[in-house]
Amino acid sequence: MKKSGLLSLAVFSLIFLFSACEDPVSEIVDNDGCPTGDLRPLNLLMGNPSNATADENNPDNYLIEMDEYTISYNNSKGIPNWVSWHLSTDWFTGDGNRQDDFRPNPFLPSSFYAVDDDAYSGSGFDRGHCCPSADRLCSDATNSRTFFMTNMIPQAPGNNQGPWACWEKYLRYLAGQDKELYVIMGQYGQGGTGFFGYRETVDEGNVWVPSNVWKVAIAIPRGEGNDLDFIDSNSEIIAINILNNDAVGDLDWDDSSFLTTVDAIEAATGYDLFSNVQTSVQNNLESQVHSIDANFDCGF
Ligand code: MN
Ligand code: MN
Repeated sequence: MKKSGLLSLAVFSLIFLFSACEDPVSEIVDNDGCPTGDLRPLNLLMGNPSNATADENNPDNYLIEMDEYTISYNNSKGIPNWVSWHLSTDWFTGDGNRQDDFRPNPFLPSSFYAVDDDAYSGSGFDRGHCCPSADRLCSDATNSRTFFMTNMIPQAPGNNQGPWACWEKYLRYLAGQDKELYVIMGQYGQGGTGFFGYRETVDEGNVWVPSNVWKVAIAIPRGEGNDLDFIDSNSEIIAINILNNDAVGDLDWDDSSFLTTVDAIEAATGYDLFSNVQTSVQNNLESQVHSIDANFDCGF
């Protein structure tokens, strides 16, 4: 190849790299195959539902931003209010394995109560992931960060290992249909029924057991650019709300009682979800109940 040919190849590669940079999550992966760059803004691209701040004097709506997911943490309850993240296949395909290294979050201010890895032991509640381990499997290091106790709630096993697990799997299935998703999961209310019955707290009162766990998501065709520009009234919206009660494990994962609207979650929590989405589009999407893709099979 002539020198000029090499030069244009170099220029072409640079242009390609720069255009790819517009959507780092879709196009750029690190050596492990994980998305790379400063990914934190993407976790809050749809908005900050409770206007959480990284201010130690705001301990019950305390913002913890990481590349993998972003949290509003509630220090009085010892659990997150909500967790927000971006989901694409890049995040969960690759060489990572489930790490199971539950531990306190090292990014918590020292004035906060650090929930220990064994805080739920013997309570009859699972350490239920908010951002799922299986959504972050591109590398061991990335997966490990889902095991901070600030990403856990005391979740009834029948919920966590039952319909909830299927809904997590369903969102990864949608991501596999050449889509990308913006997901927010949260909790509200107090008191759940686990394997050993009803409880309002675990860990000697330091950790609150929520009564409800919910999840909302917007799915759009995977592509480059600012994803807010591609959200319209035809975007797919998902909203579920499942009681933190072991008995839900006896129901089918797609039981119609789990399906709800973003409006209903907003009413129950007082949050403004998807607040960065254009108001008319927001109003339209937030009143819709999701139609489940019948091709999905949870396997149980
Ligand atoms: Mn789980
Ligand atoms: Mn909203």
